[in-house]
Amino acid sequence: PSDVRKICVIGAGYVGGPTAAVIALHNPKVGVEVLDRDQRRIERWNSAHLPIHEPGLNKIVRLTRDGAIIKEPGDRNSISHGRNGESDYVSRRGPNLFFTCDTQVSISTADMVFLAVNTPTKTTGVGAGRATNMTALDGAVKDVALYAKPGTIIVEKSTVPCGTAQRIRNTLDALRPGVPFEVLSNPEFLSEGTAIKNLMKPDRVIIGSSGTPSGKLAADALASLYAAWIPSSQILQINAWSSELSKLVANAMLAQRISSINSISAICEATGANVEEIAKSIGLDTRIGPQFLKAGLGFGGSCFRKDIASLTYLAESLGLEEVAHYWGQVNSINVMQRNRFARKVLKRFNENLFGKKITLMGFAFKKNTSDARESPAVDVIRTLLDEQPAEIAIFDPFCDEDDMLREINAAVSNTPGFAGETSSVKIYTDPYEACMESNAILIITDCDQFKNSPQRLRGSNASETSLPTNKPASTCASPKQQEDDHLGANFANYRLAPQPDCVANCPDCRSKARGPISTDPVEW
Ligand code: NAD
Repeated sequence: PSDVRKICVIGAGYVGGPTAAVIALHNPKVGVEVLDRDQRRIERWNSAHLPIHEPGLNKIVRLTRDGAIIKEPGDRNSISHGRNGESDYVSRRGPNLFFTCDTQVSISTADMVFLAVNTPTKTTGVGAGRATNMTALDGAVKDVALYAKPGTIIVEKSTVPCGTAQRIRNTLDALRPGVPFEVLSNPEFLSEGTAIKNLMKPDRVIIGSSGTPSGKLAADALASLYAAWIPSSQILQINAWSSELSKLVANAMLAQRISSINSISAICEATGANVEEIAKSIGLDTRIGPQFLKAGLGFGGSCFRKDIASLTYLAESLGLEEVAHYWGQVNSINVMQRNRFARKVLKRFNENLFGKKITLMGFAFKKNTSDARESPAVDVIRTLLDEQPAEIAIFDPFCDEDDMLREINAAVSNTPGFAGETSSVKIYTDPYEACMESNAILIITDCDQFKNSPQRLRGSNASETSLPTNKPASTCASPKQQEDDHLGANFANYRLAPQPDCVANCPDCRSKARGPISTDPVEW
């Protein structure tokens, strides 16, 4: 687009970083700068070890940030600009993706500013536990109001309550009266773990505007950035309120399917019906479809719970108590499901974990992400720790140790009467060491490398002790996983005999998962 030469993306997180990288990739003539006030995060984005793990991200950052040439013979994932789409030809390009902490320079030189900062749930004050904490967004908007040049287009990328575009406009009017700014809503629908795939081939792009002639022009400018790689039929221009609300509704609907099938799993376990068979039977109905129907530990991550909380708060603020209650149940079932799982583990040990070592394989809320926020594992760990086991061992291929411990400490410090010792939590970098001499292994994520581990880990004398669930333990090894799910766990638990030979002989399960950010190929 001729009038957008420089973009500033505020927030170098799970959304801001990958989104900026993909926009930069497809708009080589546009400079894309990602701004964050967290200096350490920016340093990592500027290093070889990116702060987040996403399949395919490393390659795009190398190309756009470093202007690197990626030409690997026979690499079908090479980024091709060849005239005939030759898969081994990559054109030379200069860097156009930058990471910075310089707020003033970054915002004042931008034609378009994306707000991709965090919008968590308020923990104190009015609406605590449900309303959105707008501190980060308000701070970013204030910076924009202070430094942006007249006419800068402001784009809400963060997930925000309905009405935020007006809130932003009010701030701009107060701090920069009479200066023209357009505010657009452009919610992000990516899922962590498949972010690059989702950004490269989104189902749709939603752009909400004021609908005035200048609002339409701003929306067109944003649409033309996306049009560089997305068919225009998939770029939808709607009003700003619908756009903001559509993001909350999308997440609420997806989470609702998970809670629905999880509620049925409880009935299945009490009756002998099989929840996987139910999911298959109903998923074949084209009106229902197969996605997001896998029973498990429930959804985790930073979005579903908080976005449903935000939706219930909105409904409540509008005096719609029944609507708020309806959506609130999606979160309640999710909490119930985690508790049910933890209680089953306890029951297996007659509610006595004294002297026991319990291993959690996986910690992130799902596979292929390093995001430890709101992991279902945390609730399970808290319940187990309260029974004072000898050790809770954790192995996760991508999560940072600090992030995992921070999440656990935050959860236990918010639990009145908690009697456990977080010092008995031990993080391992080798999955086999984590499992060594363990009394139970809980497979918490659908991480591919865990799918076959139970067979390898099972000792010759040890009996498989699957939890009393309708989901047979052997399904841990099932190769069929939903591509895009947020489910946390396989409901399986294995008693383990130490297997030193296995450790030595298993090429697949060694600690190779850890180490530098992978440059794994990704299908675009
Ligand atoms: P994140 O916490 O990973 O990143 C947010 C970043 O913003 C942090 O690095 C923080 O330091 C920075 N920041 C906050 N205030 C700032 C300011 N005033 N100036 C500069 N930097 C500032 O968050 P995220 O997961 O990337 O989510 C961002 C938004 O996108 C949220 O609204 C979220 O709901 C939404 N979203 C997230 C996902 C997801 O899967 N994570 C998907 C879709 C939408």
